[in-house]
Amino acid sequence: MFMAENDAKEKKTKYQKLEEKLALKKKSAWEQFTDKQKKETFALCDEYKSFLGKVKTEREAVKEIEAFAKKKGFSELQKINKLIPGSKVYDIFKDKNAALVITGKKPLSEGARIIVSHIDSPRLDLKPKPLYEDSGLAMMKTHYYGGIKKYQWVNTPLSLHGVVIKSDGEKVEINIGEDPKDPVFVVSDLLPHLSAKEQNKRTTVDTIKGEELNLIVGNMPIEDDKIKQKVKLSVLEHLFDKYGIVEEDFVSAELEAVPADAPRDIGFDRAFVGGYGQDDRVSAFTSMAALESIKTPEHTIVVLFYDKEEIGSVGNTGARSKHIEYLFGMILEQLGEDMSAHNIRKSLINSIALSADVSAAVNPTFKSVNDPYNSHLCGYGVALEKYSGAGGKYSGNDASAEFVGKIRSLFIDKGVPWQAGELGKVDEGGGTTVAVFFANHGMDIIDMGVPVLGMHSPFEIVSKADIYSAYLAYKAFLGL
Ligand code: MN
Ligand code: MN
Repeated sequence: MFMAENDAKEKKTKYQKLEEKLALKKKSAWEQFTDKQKKETFALCDEYKSFLGKVKTEREAVKEIEAFAKKKGFSELQKINKLIPGSKVYDIFKDKNAALVITGKKPLSEGARIIVSHIDSPRLDLKPKPLYEDSGLAMMKTHYYGGIKKYQWVNTPLSLHGVVIKSDGEKVEINIGEDPKDPVFVVSDLLPHLSAKEQNKRTTVDTIKGEELNLIVGNMPIEDDKIKQKVKLSVLEHLFDKYGIVEEDFVSAELEAVPADAPRDIGFDRAFVGGYGQDDRVSAFTSMAALESIKTPEHTIVVLFYDKEEIGSVGNTGARSKHIEYLFGMILEQLGEDMSAHNIRKSLINSIALSADVSAAVNPTFKSVNDPYNSHLCGYGVALEKYSGAGGKYSGNDASAEFVGKIRSLFIDKGVPWQAGELGKVDEGGGTTVAVFFANHGMDIIDMGVPVLGMHSPFEIVSKADIYSAYLAYKAFLGL
């Protein structure tokens, strides 16, 4: 004799059933994935690591996005005459921001589906006159970019990336420190033996001061006693021989010192990706990957990658700029639609958008900064943040309940692992991103991205389950 299947299972009590029906459930994305999805998670993250390792600056990100676009059959928007439903085009602005577009069946004035991320990350920028010699060392002065904990950027190998514009206008590209055979640069901290009297009394924020973020770049003097700064001249000689640049050329340069390490798996189970610049290149990568399977959408799809988010989305390549209006104007023109200022506004107001940016994950060692009921856990899926901001939601974006409802239903429908919460405890600190600036155009927008451990450090940590969940979320949204 055998028992019927239902009888074999433990019978649920009335209140177990009620709890199942009423209470919010928290379940790891890893537990929600099928075996096939787990496999895809690791495959996608291998691609992601290779992207992340190649892309250490906004300019390098734009180049990789352009290469992806060309490989996937996107044409340059400004070089074609006509767009039809299903056209795939890309646009690059000032080498620092990019847009990938797939035109929909409906007119653009009925609204686009927009995902916007940022491709700049915190780093140390060289000052306009960086080079000096002191105590037998050639050094370079930096000015940090974005919100960093300065003490995290010492004693770690840094590479130097960027461009130098010479006085004749020639652009020289620099990339030193990524090849294992390359030299690297480093900011050296004080030894503990001599830290007792002064440095140990500093507060954390001043453990390393901004003016102490000086890179070591040389030590070998040239052989000529008539020269005072022999080590500095030796570095200048090397720079001239190798790149044809002189000291004044640094004035018209953008050189960024960034962590030289390649992305790595973390954990016995390899469940995490560790690496520099995941804020916010993880969103750039996953939103780009989400485009791959899309043919001809109902609504036009616009995937945007902005610069300058880490310093407030300012400037002509940041999300506060009027760039989006210009881009929409161009698309309307090529579609043969009315491109009046009013129709551009209408197209923007009718759009819906995701602000794809990372959030904070709970670090079990520092749990006191989180509200345990409203925080994001590593591995629990893409994080949906209804609002951002600090100290009374100040300066944050606050998505409407209606729009959050729409996104939530979509995720339930498409089986996307997701979680909802906020960055940290009320009045503990806070942050915001590009969503507010896009909301200014009238569209509905919500913050959504992966939770990160050690955000803005030289080695940020993200769960692969969350990366795959973000990819699923962005793909589902683009199909709306
Ligand atoms: Mn970010
Ligand atoms: Mn950031």
